[in-house]
Amino acid sequence: MAESFFDEGDLVAVLTTQPLDRTLDYTAPEGGCFLGAFVEVPLGPRKVLGVVWGPGQGDFDRKKIRSVIRVLDAAPMREDMRGFLTRAADYTLTPMPAMLRLATRSPGLGDPPAMRRVYCLGHGRPDRETEARARVIALLEDYGGLAFTLGELAEQAGVSTSVVKGLVKQGVVLEEDSPKDLPFPRLDPDRAGVALTGDQATAADALRAGVRRGRYGTTLLKGVTGSGKTEVYLEAVAETLRAGRQALVLLPEIALTAEFLTRVEARFGNRPAEWHSGVTMTERRRVWRMSGEGGADLVVGARSALFLPFRDLGLIVVDEEHDTSYKQEDGVLYNARDMAVLRATLTDAQVILASATPSLETWANAEAGKYARLDLTARFGPAALPEMRAIDMRSETLPGTRWISPTLARAVTARLDAGEQALLFLNRRGYAPVTICRACGHQIGCDHCDARMVEHRFLKRLVCHQCGETRPIPTACPSCAAEDRLAPVGPGVERLAEETAALFPEARLAVLSSDLFASARALKAEIERIATGGADIVIGTQLVAKGHNFPLLTLVGVIDADLGLQGSDLRAAERTFQLMRQVAGRAGRAERPGLALLQTYQPEHPVIRAILSGEEEAFWRAEAAERKAAGVPPYGRMAGIILSGPDVQQVFDIGNTLARNDLPLRRIGAQVYGPAPAPIARIRGRHRVRLLVKAEKTAALQPALAAWVSQVRPRGDLRLAIDIDPQSFL
Ligand code: ADP
Ligand code: ZN
Repeated sequence: MAESFFDEGDLVAVLTTQPLDRTLDYTAPEGGCFLGAFVEVPLGPRKVLGVVWGPGQGDFDRKKIRSVIRVLDAAPMREDMRGFLTRAADYTLTPMPAMLRLATRSPGLGDPPAMRRVYCLGHGRPDRETEARARVIALLEDYGGLAFTLGELAEQAGVSTSVVKGLVKQGVVLEEDSPKDLPFPRLDPDRAGVALTGDQATAADALRAGVRRGRYGTTLLKGVTGSGKTEVYLEAVAETLRAGRQALVLLPEIALTAEFLTRVEARFGNRPAEWHSGVTMTERRRVWRMSGEGGADLVVGARSALFLPFRDLGLIVVDEEHDTSYKQEDGVLYNARDMAVLRATLTDAQVILASATPSLETWANAEAGKYARLDLTARFGPAALPEMRAIDMRSETLPGTRWISPTLARAVTARLDAGEQALLFLNRRGYAPVTICRACGHQIGCDHCDARMVEHRFLKRLVCHQCGETRPIPTACPSCAAEDRLAPVGPGVERLAEETAALFPEARLAVLSSDLFASARALKAEIERIATGGADIVIGTQLVAKGHNFPLLTLVGVIDADLGLQGSDLRAAERTFQLMRQVAGRAGRAERPGLALLQTYQPEHPVIRAILSGEEEAFWRAEAAERKAAGVPPYGRMAGIILSGPDVQQVFDIGNTLARNDLPLRRIGAQVYGPAPAPIARIRGRHRVRLLVKAEKTAALQPALAAWVSQVRPRGDLRLAIDIDPQSFL
């Protein structure tokens, strides 16, 4: 076993957050330091953050070795966390310093805890007993020894802050400084939850038993939307808390958090800690520290919460585990779902992967017996699954600038007459995906990317969905200068809203598209407005597919069910299947039965047929068989190499060099495809070239990839990124 404490002067190896490819030796400071200690070390003229990673290597000139400057005031990084970062780095071929940066995303990590002024009960009675003063004293007595900030105390007692200050002068109320990073309120697992139905209770029992075993295990919790998956996994959270361990719930999207927090509060009496981009710096710091010190029972967060320094993590829930947002596509390329499983194996934790439409990877792992599987087959209460039908667009008559078929329009009218809501789903932001010049045929594209500019009428601009570049909508064609000949082609949600307003002038419309909301809060307000009947017709993109509850919604119309089937993406069928089932699941959540209508030009397409028939297992089996035959994930391994740079020739040269020198890959029986222009060949002025590596499932892919790419040294502005298990093929 590695030594766990180093005395002053001992040689220690420190991993820093600086981009170096090795640890550096230092001597332990006065007072010594623990293995895993967070430290500040000198690096050239700078002071940098690091972690004591082990005994020093001793291969530096001993006389030149400098001392650790100081040990930071934070619990040392635990062995399981160090193991997790190492294994995650090996898996994703990420340099360790970048992994360490993910694990130290806490503002002011090393600073002593900030103080804040608080007020609590002192001694004696005030000289004059006014009603306001009595309220303050009564409140403090009610709450026992609890301390409040000045604002909280005044507000809760319904007095002005000067009343409190007056009591402080007399010593009746005490003013104190206390550390800011307070523990989160304890969650009470023994408050009564809802009474679970038979199916739910069986699933909850199995999950609780898993938690009690206190060892690693992963369970797929599969159930249609509304079947009570959340209620069931909250029982596993409760059992984890009872065992004195911590729980982490990962959610794919911030907008969902608010609803979830309310449910946690209802179940456990208090709100959990939150970790995502919308959380303030002070609060992030608090969550980071408290997860490490055990002062946070439950953390609810986005994928990066996986890198918090939990003291004793016993359960990780990945809700909507199939969601593509779990894959980080920038910087360190990792899939939070897979990393959750890795972390759990190292800390004897349970993992619950919850979904109505699991990823094929997870489905296959359950089939193979690597994961347990629990099914909730019925929706809770009277809510039934919606009936699903195709609208064969080949036999509908409608002009080329309209997208709502007469059949769909009639169904919408019927809902409006019944006082119910309808949702029209189109997974395309903006007004029109293409703007074309009727004089010369030119299509307006982005100057920096290989992408068309998308008209956003609401913003009055053209927007590139690749790089975010925007510009005013021109009146003349940029190519032939003809005036007023530019025309939108194809529908986006904004255009669909226009058509809907014309068709149903009486109806109140709401458009849910991520770009129309300035903040998660604004979006949440709109969702609440819709849920309580503030709109008759909802028009939405992918945003609506994710878990929101619209009890009055009984009809879902999918404008273009064929949209996702066109891509060359290996997961196109799977994604379409998941998305269509999720969207359809929005209908009929309460007492009224739902109907989902899919507009399609290919109703006989196997994916469309599988969606309509609801024979999910048949769909997955067929999809699995195809992937197996092709030797692609999850039955084979894949890695993407993206080379990018401003000079297309240089980028290709490196790609060709790699392709020619493929010996390290051939040794493990892997094949290289490419180099070829990436499907999006240019982003932000950088040319992108892609190589794809395919290997057998059992091949030791990462070491071979590492050896292979080390043969080239991309210089200057050239970049090389490795994407293990690529999800998107952009
Ligand atoms: P899912 O996570 O599968 O979409 P939820 O757990 O959100 O399902 O359940 C859907 C709705 O039904 C929620 O409002 C939930 O509180 C309610 N619900 C589910 N099961 C029960 C139950 N056994 N008793 C009372 N309400 C329940
Ligand atoms: Zn662009």
